[in-house]
Amino acid sequence: MASGILTIVEQNDGKVSRIGWEALAAAQEIGAALNQPVSAFVLGKNAQAAAKSVAEAKIQQAWFAENAELANYTPDGFSAAARQVIERAQPQYVFAGHSYQARDYMPKLATSFGRVFISDSVGFRHEGGAVVFVRQMFQGKINTDFSFTPQSGTPYFVSFQASAVSSDKLQKGGSAAVADAGVNLTGVAIRTNVLEIFEGVKGKVDLTKADIIVSVGRGIKEKDKLPVVEELAKALSADLAASRPVCDDGWLPMDRQIGSSGQTVAPKLYVAVGISGAIQHIVGMKGSRVVVAINKDERAPIFDIADYGVVGDLFEVVPALTAAIKEVKG
Ligand SMILES: Cc1cc2nc3c(=O)[nH]c(=O)nc-3n(C[C@H](O)[C@H](O)[C@H](O)COP(=O)(O)OP(=O)(O)OC[C@H]3O[C@@H](n4cnc5c(N)ncnc54)[C@H](O)[C@@H]3O)c2cc1C
Repeated sequence: MASGILTIVEQNDGKVSRIGWEALAAAQEIGAALNQPVSAFVLGKNAQAAAKSVAEAKIQQAWFAENAELANYTPDGFSAAARQVIERAQPQYVFAGHSYQARDYMPKLATSFGRVFISDSVGFRHEGGAVVFVRQMFQGKINTDFSFTPQSGTPYFVSFQASAVSSDKLQKGGSAAVADAGVNLTGVAIRTNVLEIFEGVKGKVDLTKADIIVSVGRGIKEKDKLPVVEELAKALSADLAASRPVCDDGWLPMDRQIGSSGQTVAPKLYVAVGISGAIQHIVGMKGSRVVVAINKDERAPIFDIADYGVVGDLFEVVPALTAAIKEVKG
């Protein structure tokens, strides 16, 4: 009988990505609730190094595959490798972070087993011994519950949206066995030839690693007023980000945009200045630990998810806040 949770942990050249840790944290939580062991599979260039760090999480086993055919990501190579590990491990669940790679190969992998795939899950809960996964529909306007039925057949494939689970929840202090998965890709048709890997935007700012973000919206009114928020960001040693209209207007570069068509971030502190809180913005920052909103409209939706809210004119509030922070910091 299928048992256990196998997490396909994403890594890049030996370094586990945040979305990989998050998927593993979800597996630990669900594994504990279902009383099922958690294992991990890491693949690609330098996967062994990544598997070693994954093995420091409290899991049962970490497998890796470093075959030459996996040096570059391809849907054929990754799904064939994962398929072999799944056939051997016979897990009940297969988890992954909902990265660009996973959204490419996971449907292929699930359908190769004739199984369905609950993708881009934003949360989960336990109900009567089963796990209910939450997905968003209609651009995040509606949350919908999904669960596998006995007729679904195992394994159950699930991916988790970035920040759906905090990687802070990961239980470390483990010493799992690390083993070569023994994947053999001889004869597997890899129909993609990777010519070049390039970053979408040269010199792209990676806000996903920021601890503190000050984000500015259309409430700032014009580009020339940006120094008001730049000063606050500087005082807080924060990274500066923005809502889409600010980037669309060219006031800040596109790589500073937070939201469904920008970056997804989960800093310790997110200060939203003059941002209304449209759902397309919220999906990009709702994983923030503490949200502070400054907006002159007390009914602005950003206040629904803010931990602290200041109703007021940003041109008064922000300079006063900046001055107070500077004073405290000395
Ligand atoms: C397919 C699609 C994808 C999208 N992707 C994204 C995305 O990735 N990121 C994103 O951010 N948006 C995205 N959007 C746009 C989104 O729907 C909103 O239009 C956008 O987030 C609004 O930005 P804003 O809050 O800065 O501006 P507004 O909605 O105009 O809000 C400005 C806020 O500033 C406040 N304000 C004004 N003056 C002051 C003042 N003096 N002091 C204090 N507060 C003040 C106002 O009360 C208001 O709440 C997307 C839309 C679509 C259709």
